[in-house]
Amino acid sequence: MTTRSDPRKGRIETRLIHAGEPERRIEGAVSLPIFQTAQFVYAGEGSYHDIRYIRLNNTPNHEALGRKLASLEGAEAALVTASGMAAITTSLLTVLSAGDHLLIQDSLYGGTHDFVTHDLGGFGITATFIDADDPSSWESKLTPRTRAIYVETMSNPTLKIGDLKSAVAFARRNGLVALIDNTFASPMNFRPAEHGFDISLHSCTKYLNGHTDIVAGAAIGSKDMIERVRHKLNHLGGTLDPHACSLLWRGIKTLAVRMRQHQDNAMALAAMLEGHAGVARVNYPGLPSHPRHARAKELFDGFSGMLSFELKGGLDAAQRFLDALTIPIVAPSLGAVESLVTLPAVTSHAGMAPEERRRIGVTDGLIRVSVGIEGTEDLVADFRQALNRAVA
Ligand code: PLP
Repeated sequence: MTTRSDPRKGRIETRLIHAGEPERRIEGAVSLPIFQTAQFVYAGEGSYHDIRYIRLNNTPNHEALGRKLASLEGAEAALVTASGMAAITTSLLTVLSAGDHLLIQDSLYGGTHDFVTHDLGGFGITATFIDADDPSSWESKLTPRTRAIYVETMSNPTLKIGDLKSAVAFARRNGLVALIDNTFASPMNFRPAEHGFDISLHSCTKYLNGHTDIVAGAAIGSKDMIERVRHKLNHLGGTLDPHACSLLWRGIKTLAVRMRQHQDNAMALAAMLEGHAGVARVNYPGLPSHPRHARAKELFDGFSGMLSFELKGGLDAAQRFLDALTIPIVAPSLGAVESLVTLPAVTSHAGMAPEERRRIGVTDGLIRVSVGIEGTEDLVADFRQALNRAVA
């Protein structure tokens, strides 16, 4: 399928809509049709990975998404997977083999943390956690078999921002593959390939889709690297169904307008929370009080819609706060049009040992907010009334 010329040109708002589209509209269809067919007629493909079959990630829906995602992050190639975890685990198993060693950020999405601590060892792969904000401590953790370094753009749920530039420089110096989970920033705010990362990973379940109706993932990088990940994925079987591809395709197109409202709402909420007497701490990179606000300003085009905060009354006050909210939904996941709130200690980070959890700042009463795109004044008013009731 030929594609529209030069999809990497133009502003990201334009590329969200037009990049990756077929050059000639299929049967004149303005919206890319869903190719709901498991296999395609054999057309002389020379290799197993080129046979057109949903699991082999090469239907028109997969390929169009790959082109669009690559264009959004200024990378050569991309592929979509059945979930964010499928993208993360498949990519790690692509670049690591038995005997290899991984350096990985200590404050991580809980699922990634659990995979590293519970599953990687079974493949004969070892890992050492690092403080992503302290590059001077990394060298001593290198081993002759260290092959990769893995960080998150903004860590979940404490919104720490590691030294991302040093992570890439360290990888180059030591011949490592640099991977980054870019879910929280989204391509609107950070494009890892532009900074030298080898693989950018997404849970497309979150901002890229944005509508709480599918689970999906993506890996984005150089042509060679993504081809390696695709071959591994073809064996592991974590492809994305064409129907879900189509929903993701639709969701991506509105990312720019959604992200603008997410960010405006998050900034307004963070400022209100920081000024409230019942709040002990607010974590939002857009606040000048964030310890890495200057770094976030330098690296990112926006601060995204995720924040977390702690009430002075701990877990009991947090529970009262959640009960008093009327607009946000108490539910896991993030990046959706509706505001979502959780207590990470009992949801995303429940699998982590309590001491380890506290060490990375996930206290029992920490409240994480995925700020939606509702009316700003409505959200601020709702949070304020819930705070006043929770800490009265
Ligand atoms: N990465 C981050 C930062 C996440 O928050 C999540 C899920 O919450 C994942 C990866 C995993 O994504 P999925 O649930 O789509 O497998």
